[in-house]
Amino acid sequence: MRTVICEVCLKSKILCNACQDKLNKGMTTEDEIKIAKHIYKLSEKMRSIRDVEIVKIINSNILIIVTGRGDAPKLVGKSGSVVKKIAKKFKKPIRILEQASSFKDFVEELIFPTSVNGINTLYRDNEEILRIRVPAVQKNHLLIKPENFSEIISNFYNKKVELVFEI
Ligand SMILES: [Zn+2]
Repeated sequence: MRTVICEVCLKSKILCNACQDKLNKGMTTEDEIKIAKHIYKLSEKMRSIRDVEIVKIINSNILIIVTGRGDAPKLVGKSGSVVKKIAKKFKKPIRILEQASSFKDFVEELIFPTSVNGINTLYRDNEEILRIRVPAVQKNHLLIKPENFSEIISNFYNKKVELVFEI
């Protein structure tokens, strides 16, 4: 299994220098490591997820796991067998997404089943902000709270995001 930390660290209680460095630089968090370790533990019993790549884990009001291309179905498991185990452990809904080729694709996957009217770039105080326009009628279908949505995107892409609802 490939995750943000190396396989040795997934099994160990202490981090190697390279992984500790990632943690210090903010490329990962204690929380992400804890969840990655749990999934790794599951992989010891579940052969099907042994070769899965986990690109990023974001712990928000839902737990978002971004996998490498083609790996999402494996992490979901047959009839959701794997994802159900993860959900039970962390007691929150799980969303599994594959790494997208573009920012727009990622946003659309993340926001699904809500649709995106468009994404605009604007500048405020010399800062780039991406404004994601969503139909107001679909507001209640959002699985992720708007404030968490911005947090997730900035976590993943290092971009500032605003979600606006259009009537
Ligand atoms: Zn390591």
